[in-house]
Amino acid sequence: MSTAVRLSILLLAGMLLLSACERTQPVHNGQFMAFGTLTDISIAGVTPERAESAIEALEEDFAIMHKAWHAWAPGPLTRTNNLLAEGVRFAAPPSVLTLMEKSRQLAQQSDNLFNPAIGRLVKLWGFQQDEIKNRRPPDDAAIAKLLHADPTMEDISIDGIHARCGNPAVQLDFGAIGKGYGIDLAIEHLREMGIENAIVNSGGDLRAIGSRNGNPWRIAIRSPSGSGVLGFLHISSDESIFTSGDYERNYLWKGKHYHHIIDPRTGYPAEGTRSVTVIHDNATVADAAATALFVAGPKDWHKIARQMGIRYVLLIDSNNVAQMNPAMEKRFALMNKNQVVEVSEPLIAPQTEKK
Ligand code: ADP
Ligand code: MG
Repeated sequence: MSTAVRLSILLLAGMLLLSACERTQPVHNGQFMAFGTLTDISIAGVTPERAESAIEALEEDFAIMHKAWHAWAPGPLTRTNNLLAEGVRFAAPPSVLTLMEKSRQLAQQSDNLFNPAIGRLVKLWGFQQDEIKNRRPPDDAAIAKLLHADPTMEDISIDGIHARCGNPAVQLDFGAIGKGYGIDLAIEHLREMGIENAIVNSGGDLRAIGSRNGNPWRIAIRSPSGSGVLGFLHISSDESIFTSGDYERNYLWKGKHYHHIIDPRTGYPAEGTRSVTVIHDNATVADAAATALFVAGPKDWHKIARQMGIRYVLLIDSNNVAQMNPAMEKRFALMNKNQVVEVSEPLIAPQTEKK
């Protein structure tokens, strides 16, 4: 081989290498609206073209899920709710059936503090609409009536693909779990497309897999006052971080704020908590748990977290104290050094002891 030929082969190889490097960006981002909030996808370690087509595929997935689990726009869930209220036996749509089954178990583990059967209460409070407007809260009597009817997931019997409900007060609202399950399905789809390093983040609730080019993903946790960052969490391999806060959806009436997380024991917005952040390996469980622990409040979150198998909890109570279990405190990089922190007893969940 002549020197000239050898040189040109070397040059060509160099160019190919360069173009491969240029084509592999460390992190590629894409955004779209889903579940009424901005969803942000970060993908690392693949070409921009592959990342782009994966993001397009996820946007389609989310649009389908949004329709399937919408609590008030006509679709599979509203149809299911009508049939549940009628008390007839019916073939449940597959998308709704899976969430019913998952919800049933999580409701039970949370002593029904996570209770997606309270759709009528959520509607009564005015949270089943796109725009939350300042309005008069419902009458005590209307709340008491729904509370007395005691709707729970236990009222629904599931037999194969068939369901029947024995309590006409039951109406499903997957607002506290749908996003989590959607994120789990999105991660599954990314993996099927050969993507191993990514974050699916829907309005601050997320699941991250793999790494950012070999480094852990760094996640900012918003302060419950709505502005600024409370601290950071690093995650690698595969974990979900979910937060439920009173600042997400609320309205003002006569100087008092009413938010969208309802305590199924009282029928009123849960008191004593400003926000709860949990880390768990599964987004569906993390979503339901963040809501359940918010309702459980400063006194009971520890017990409910153990029952639900949650190992990392941060709860900001209404006095602005950051309550954490020791494992969370170890991982949480607090930004504000004046933040009051209370560290609880360790959370050793029965399920995780076996790991
Ligand atoms: P976000 O939607 O802000 O992420 P959550 O995951 O806590 O917050 O979900 C709150 C939504 O869940 C409410 O808008 C309502 O649709 C529904 N919901 C309210 N209270 C409960 C509850 N105790 N159990 C289950 N779902 C609830
Ligand atoms: Mg939730």
